[in-house]
Amino acid sequence: MQTIDKFNFAGKKAIVRVDFNVPLDENGKVTDDTRIRGALPTLKKVLADGGSLIMMSHMGKPKGKVNPKLSLSQIVDPVSKALGVAVKFAPDCANAADVAAALKPGEALLLENLRFYPEEEGKPVGIEKTDPNYDTAKKDMKAKQKEFAKTLASYADCYVNDAFGTAHRKHASTAVIADSFDTENKMLGYLMEKEVKAIDNVLKNAQHPFTAIIGGSKVSSKLGVIKNLLTKVDNLIIGGGMGYTFIKAQGGHIGDSLHEDELMPEALSVMEEAKKLGVNISLSVATVAGNKFADDADKQIVDIYNIPEGWEGMDASEASLKNWKEIILASKTILWNGPVGVFEFPSFAHGTGEIAKYVAEATENGAYSLVGGGDSVAAVNKFGLADKVSYVSTGGGAMLEAIEGKVLPGVAAITGEA
Ligand code: AMP
Repeated sequence: MQTIDKFNFAGKKAIVRVDFNVPLDENGKVTDDTRIRGALPTLKKVLADGGSLIMMSHMGKPKGKVNPKLSLSQIVDPVSKALGVAVKFAPDCANAADVAAALKPGEALLLENLRFYPEEEGKPVGIEKTDPNYDTAKKDMKAKQKEFAKTLASYADCYVNDAFGTAHRKHASTAVIADSFDTENKMLGYLMEKEVKAIDNVLKNAQHPFTAIIGGSKVSSKLGVIKNLLTKVDNLIIGGGMGYTFIKAQGGHIGDSLHEDELMPEALSVMEEAKKLGVNISLSVATVAGNKFADDADKQIVDIYNIPEGWEGMDASEASLKNWKEIILASKTILWNGPVGVFEFPSFAHGTGEIAKYVAEATENGAYSLVGGGDSVAAVNKFGLADKVSYVSTGGGAMLEAIEGKVLPGVAAITGEA
């Protein structure tokens, strides 16, 4: 497998899939440039070697149609500044051959939002799944997707995928395009390499005890994650909103707490399976309950199995935190996904902040910690602890699918992994 570090881009044109799906304000100004900064090591390597750089990305969900509000032309200036090169812009991804061919070594080009083309995602537009012609439309679109990917590939001599956030999608620019390059001329970018290594560190090379902390709102969105982790971890801490389904399934009274009745049998089978595998599942023992879903709710600490009607569990209590602290500090590998309370409300953010601290402390003591998947990343950032954990993943959905044990098409297209 080719690696970016070994590759010499001198005199070559590189097409790089980046994740420039950055938030913009109403004037089209970038409000958070983390993703642009995240791609810089890869982009700068291409330019420093004397290569020509062709960047491509999606932004938002234009659903196969041109939408000026989601035009990447709005980020040409910030990308130019970050790269230190005046970036050219190609307003039509499918017709950029001339401008790409004219690029000199050290020059950079940004293509328009890939998702202005339905071919990028490869899903037929304007036809319902129930339509009898849907399958034909889908086949047609898949063929067009291949053509679109070939067009993009024709602009360059080599392909780099550095967009971890879309690695779980089999899109033209994230996976299909790789078919047009031989093994020597396609590679993961630096950011993707780091993400893949971080996931391998927990899923393939974990040191034990290995503890996963799974929080957040719904069991349904994390069931795959929990099931895959059961065969790997020593401890599974289940906190946050999803914990109440487990408590109710065991006959607990959870008041008005968040829960999913239809997932109670699954929750019980997870507990059963954990017992068989010798995995210690640690649920909350008491909760900080509120009398409404609001920051200024009245609060009381109640036993997790006896939450009164009219009250809902909204944060982890000191009693639960004490148990979890002990487990986390004794761990050698930690994976954290999802807050253990409604951390967006300052009065219910304490528990999540504590977990962030314990993970940081365990890391300082030598544990490997990976924090990933949406809100837990926001939480470590909120508590200023992002640089005190081993790795913070940039890809929410991609990270979750990887922890579910799924092969990510964007990674597989390069590594050949099945
Ligand atoms: P997820 O996207 O599944 O990781 O869920 C994250 C969300 O879960 C955050 O917005 C939290 O506010 C929410 N959450 C965590 N604990 C609770 C709880 N006890 N009740 C309601 N929502 C919660």
